[in-house]
Amino acid sequence: MTAVSTELTTYQMFINGEWVDAASGQSFESLNPYTGQAWAMIPDGQEQDVDRAVDAARQALDHPDWKRMPPMQRGHLLRRFADLLQEHAEHLGHVETRDNGKLIREMLGQARALPSYYYYYAGLADKILGDTIPLENTSVFNYTLREPVGVVGIITPWNSPLLILSFSLAAALATGNTVVVKPSEHTSASTLEFAKLVQEAGFPPGVFNVVTGFGKMAGGALVRHPGVNKIVFTGGAETGKVIAQLAASHITPVLLELGGKSPNIIFDDATMPNAVNGCIAGIFAASGQTCIAGSRLFLHAKVHDAFVERLVERTKRIKLGDPSSMASEMGPMATTDQLHKVQGFVDGAINDGAELVYGGKRPDAPELRQGWFFMPTIFDGVRNDMDLAQEEVFGPVLGVLKFHDEEELIALANQTRYGLAAGIWTNDIKRAHRVARDLKAGTVWINTYRAVSYASPFGGYKQSGYGREMGLEAIREFTQVKSVWVDLADTVPDPFALR
Ligand code: NDP
Repeated sequence: MTAVSTELTTYQMFINGEWVDAASGQSFESLNPYTGQAWAMIPDGQEQDVDRAVDAARQALDHPDWKRMPPMQRGHLLRRFADLLQEHAEHLGHVETRDNGKLIREMLGQARALPSYYYYYAGLADKILGDTIPLENTSVFNYTLREPVGVVGIITPWNSPLLILSFSLAAALATGNTVVVKPSEHTSASTLEFAKLVQEAGFPPGVFNVVTGFGKMAGGALVRHPGVNKIVFTGGAETGKVIAQLAASHITPVLLELGGKSPNIIFDDATMPNAVNGCIAGIFAASGQTCIAGSRLFLHAKVHDAFVERLVERTKRIKLGDPSSMASEMGPMATTDQLHKVQGFVDGAINDGAELVYGGKRPDAPELRQGWFFMPTIFDGVRNDMDLAQEEVFGPVLGVLKFHDEEELIALANQTRYGLAAGIWTNDIKRAHRVARDLKAGTVWINTYRAVSYASPFGGYKQSGYGREMGLEAIREFTQVKSVWVDLADTVPDPFALR
């Protein structure tokens, strides 16, 4: 394990294979959410830096070292990189915990999962196939080529910086694109540490670039840049709308992953200990700061009272504490903005008449006062028209709703502008599949929650976004199809008729 220094660490950006300061010479502090103190200095990249990075990515895209690299060789590079990620997983996990305040047990788990994303797509790099098309005109040979889309701009959020980056980066590189990443200003350090490993793996200069800075400045410049051929954005829905509008000025396609208001549904025949565990995982893991949070809990009327009792009992035992301790179960919120936003939703829910069953405030324990902690919070008696049931809180706040039958449940669960994920807990196999089919969500878990894999497509319905990351679907996202026509006939056709 590489130890993380306790002194202020100064970072540079990674552009064209070199470590550089922002053109302005400015930098900003990155804060540790557990101590509220600065621990790193991050370059404040702006338009000029984005120009440099996009130019480097454009040149790398057309340079024979990358453009003509045999696909199997790309696979070897990705594999070498994955080996390095494996070697440095602990260090990356610790940097992320220090920067976003999420539990080390979560961030280490994520860091250890990263190599699989690159091993998986390394194996696919030389299996990106076109088709031959059997046309009606048999004297024409028609085939398709799958080519890289070009320069991909990836904008990542603060909650799981490297995992979310890898959701798209592995596929983007395997398919021969070049990349410029803009991490969140709150959590840029791990992406810069990650870039050191990209460099060590031996990717040609300009294939992978990192510009740090603020969302509106560096992020906005990347989205507006005419040299970018695709934007991948993960973050809030409101920012997602801005991104889609900015990208439209150059008809730049966008992949949007925008969070949700996901239902976690408990039928009366569910295995209760597992379902309680799944609810805790859905909303209190990562302090609720996850796009797939199961923030609306639908309880069948028959089990409602008993389930709430068990849930509160387990919630009371959640151990809040130093996120870098393996014993802690919930860490602080990642930013003070997030902390205030959560408190605002709690106050709003009380005003709307929801019943506060547990939590609802910052913890009293003196050792938790320094960090940006919020108690795990449960509201019962929530109605679907309340803000708490419709807006993404992105914090440890659960709203409980009651249902009586499947039909009512489906209507209520789908009554949201979001559609990222859903959980179903039942032992009735027919009901499980029926409900899974009727829920409008990009991911449905049956008797589990919060599971993701590099091999399974991930993305949203409705305002949770569009496009799919991971699995074979991602190959389609990061390639464009060219149709090639070859005339095999010896005749000279009519020049004025469509062939
Ligand atoms: P944002 O959606 O604003 O930020 C996500 C990323 O976009 C960050 O890298 C951010 O940079 C960047 N960004 C922000 N504005 C622009 C812009 N105009 N152009 C280009 N890039 C931009 O999330 P917030 O951090 O403000 O959180 C707000 C809410 O979003 C949360 O409360 C939560 O509800 C939701 N969210 C959802 C996530 C998900 O996984 N789906 C992840 C994070 C947040 P910077 O951080 O430097 O501003």
